[in-house]
Amino acid sequence: MDHFLYRNGILHAEDVAIPEIAAQVGTPFYVYSAATLTRHYRLFTEALSPMPHLVCFAIKSLSNIAVLKLLGDLGAGMDVVSGGEYLRAKAAGVPGDRIVFSGVGKTRDEMRLALEGGIRQFNLESEPEMRALSEVATALGVVAPVTVRVNPDVDAKTHAKIATGKSENKFGIPIARAREVYAEIARLPGLRVVGIDVHIGSQLTELAPFEAAFAKVRELTLALRGDGHDIRRLDLGGGLGIPYTRSNEAPPLPTDYGAMIKRTLGDLGCEIEIEPGRLISGNSGVLVAGVIYVKNGEGRDFLILDAAMNDLVRPSMYDAHHDIVPVAEAAPGSPTQAFDVVGPVCETGDTFAKARDLPLVAAGDLVAFRSAGAYGAVMASEYNSRPLVPEVLVRGDQFAVIRARPSFDEMLKRDSIPEWL
Ligand SMILES: *Cc1c(COP(=O)(O)O)cnc(C)c1O
Repeated sequence: MDHFLYRNGILHAEDVAIPEIAAQVGTPFYVYSAATLTRHYRLFTEALSPMPHLVCFAIKSLSNIAVLKLLGDLGAGMDVVSGGEYLRAKAAGVPGDRIVFSGVGKTRDEMRLALEGGIRQFNLESEPEMRALSEVATALGVVAPVTVRVNPDVDAKTHAKIATGKSENKFGIPIARAREVYAEIARLPGLRVVGIDVHIGSQLTELAPFEAAFAKVRELTLALRGDGHDIRRLDLGGGLGIPYTRSNEAPPLPTDYGAMIKRTLGDLGCEIEIEPGRLISGNSGVLVAGVIYVKNGEGRDFLILDAAMNDLVRPSMYDAHHDIVPVAEAAPGSPTQAFDVVGPVCETGDTFAKARDLPLVAAGDLVAFRSAGAYGAVMASEYNSRPLVPEVLVRGDQFAVIRARPSFDEMLKRDSIPEWL
C-alpha cells in the first residue's frame, strides 16, 4: 500500500496534488511519500518484534539525506556500501553504532573514515579485505567489529543482474570456507567477530531461497560457536521484493518474512539485522514526467516524455516494468491506446515500455511512473546533458524540494578548460 491516490480525479502524493508540485518544480521529478516510507519501515520492525533487531535501510536504493533523516529519526540503522553513503548517513544524523558497512571493495580510505567516525560493523567479503581492515584498525589503535558475508550458494530466482548468492557471483566467502576464515580473523589483531552476514539478491518474490540460506546460517552459527567465536548478531541482508504491477504479483509480506526468521533463527539468542532497501523505498516514490509529443509512427504510436533513461534506468538496464498512469485520472471505460513510451535520449534503449495500453493522453499532460522510489533517483545521470532529476518529499499537505535541479550554468561550470588548450 502507498499514499499515491487519485482524489477528485487528480493523482495526489498524500494530501498534495501532483500538478501543484509540477507547477513549482517543473518536470521530470521524483516525489516521495513520508507516510509510505514510515509505514514500510514499521512493517519490518513489527515483523521482527519481539526479537532484538535493527532494521538497516539499504541507502543505495534511495540516498537523499532528507529520506535518511526521516528513517533515522524513527530509529532505523543504515546499510552503506561506500564512503559517500557513510557520510550521507552521518549527515542525516544517524549515529555510527547504527551504520553497517557492506560491499566487496571497501578501500583503506573508506575503512579509516568509518573507523574514525564510528561504525557498528563491517561486513567483510574477502580475505584480502579482512587483512587490510585489520592493518588499518591496528594503525588507528582500534579494533574493528566484523561479520563475514557468507555466500550460501542458493538460487535467489531473480534477475541475473541482481542475484548475489550463487557461488559464481562476486559476493561473499563460500560458506564451506567460513570456519577457516573466522579462525584467521580470531588471529588478526585489528578485528573482533560480532556475527555472520548473508545477502542473496534483490527483488526476491519467494521466501524459499531466503529460508534455504538462513538454514545454512543457522548451522554455521552453531559450528562457529563451537569453535569459540562470539556470534551475537545475524545480518540477513535485504532483498524482499515488491509488486511492480498492481494486478498479478504478490511477493511475500514482511510479516511472513519475519515469522520465517523467527522460526528458523529465533531460538539462537542473536540480534537480527536486516538490510531492506527496495521494500521500504520502492513504492514510496513516483517519477512524474510531462508528455512532449505524441508521435504517430507506422503501425505504432510513441509517447515522447521529458523523462528518459538517464532519470530512470531500470527499464533499459533490467527490463523492469513500471506502471505508468496519467496524473489526471481517466474516466472509467474511456478508450485506451497502445503506446511505446520513450524518452528524448538518443538511444533505442531509451524505451520505458512497448505497446503499453494507456488512456489517451496529449502533449502537455503529466504521467507518473509508479514504484520508482528504489534504484530510481540514485541511478540517475546527466547523460545527454540533461540536468540531474530533482527530488521532492511530501508529508501530509506539505512538500519540499530535497534535491534541486541544477541550472545549466551550474552544470557547465563543473567542466574546466585547461590553460594549455
Ligand atoms: C542491495 C543490497 C541490499 C538491499 O537490497 P534490496 O533488494 O533493495 O532490499 C541490502 N544489502 C546489501 C549488501 C545489498 O547489496
